[in-house]
Amino acid sequence: MSSYVRGQILSRPRRAQMQQKYGASVEEEMLKSLLKLFIHQERKFVNLVIEGCNSKRACCFTDAFVELEAYQKNRFEEPIPDRHGVFMTDIIDTAILERFISSGTEAVDLHHVEPFLAMLDFIHDRRRHGKAICKILKNSGETPVTVALTEHLFSQLLTSKNYRVDSFSKDLPKKCPCGCNADIKSGTTSMGSRFTWHGRVDVLLNQTIAVHTLKEGDDSSAGDTPLNTQDTEDLETQDLQPVAKKPKVVGVNHKKGKDPLYNLHVLDQIVAETVTNGFSQVGKQASLSDLLIPTLGTTSEYFTIFLYDPVNDILLQDTLRFGIWEYPEDAKLNMFSVVCLWLFLNFTSFVLKTSKWRNEVETVESQFHKIMDRKLERYKEISTESSPLHMHQTLKEMESSYGEILDLTCQRIKKD
Ligand SMILES: [Zn+2]
Repeated sequence: MSSYVRGQILSRPRRAQMQQKYGASVEEEMLKSLLKLFIHQERKFVNLVIEGCNSKRACCFTDAFVELEAYQKNRFEEPIPDRHGVFMTDIIDTAILERFISSGTEAVDLHHVEPFLAMLDFIHDRRRHGKAICKILKNSGETPVTVALTEHLFSQLLTSKNYRVDSFSKDLPKKCPCGCNADIKSGTTSMGSRFTWHGRVDVLLNQTIAVHTLKEGDDSSAGDTPLNTQDTEDLETQDLQPVAKKPKVVGVNHKKGKDPLYNLHVLDQIVAETVTNGFSQVGKQASLSDLLIPTLGTTSEYFTIFLYDPVNDILLQDTLRFGIWEYPEDAKLNMFSVVCLWLFLNFTSFVLKTSKWRNEVETVESQFHKIMDRKLERYKEISTESSPLHMHQTLKEMESSYGEILDLTCQRIKKD
């Protein structure tokens, strides 16, 4: 019996459970409303082009340098084209969402039972998770942000609930500090190779998605513009123009300024992690080819989503950050942001293959392939779990764990 057929058979009782628990429930209604909002919103990803970077030099993420430009078709022509970037709805399989909106849990096909169940469970427990995150965030530092959001938000939206926090994180607790007694899972989060950008990411979700966490006040470059470019600033301003039919997205803060997610050095690191992880994942699982692989950058208040397809060399970032809170004082999560997060964290279920949407939406390559030129092979050879052993490695290095080798090379000092 093929694993596909076996999966289908196993999913049937799970679907029955889901229907029994959530059929005609308030959670089902809420998810329908959120998906309706998703389908009618007009949030976009900006199509990023790398003008220059130090990816050939094989440095650690903390030393990565990336000069970005936002691609904009006919940018100097009048009238200004009304379409910039890629709508979220361009790259998400909205047919699945439409079916849920019309028929709820009954319409969920066997392939999508687990992700829908994860989202419905989260909606059911949203207040508990919101309070748990707030409780943990009362402690200062970067690790509480990592632990709170990983344990009580990101991993909850995954079907596997699987994650790994960098075991070198400062003061990493063994149990969740909210009092729920969950084990905080940690381990090596190294990626890349000695011939590429490399280092440890803060969290690996499902061994696939990298997360870069920051605490508020990490900003050290007041006055930086978002995404390293003035052009993106223009794009953002246009995005902020009132659009009559655009529904109000609750809780998304439009203010700019001292936010670590707009810090140029932080963005350099996240882009390097996004690209490196993209290649790692495709190197490890060929089924991820032709897909945009997400990487998150997050503070306790906002997150941003980067997407990179290493096969087609497409790099995207959401144009506005997503607000995590609707009413932070009441520990009330912004459920629209949570739904967007859920769709992208479960990208293998909801994001369309790039070859399916790319003919409809004009995009350009990030130029990473062109910059790497013949050395692109170095990136194609890496994978997250283990690195191919290179001839130059000594026996001693081969005996050490891959993570240790990278740590030695990298000498990454955690921010504290
Ligand atoms: Zn907890």
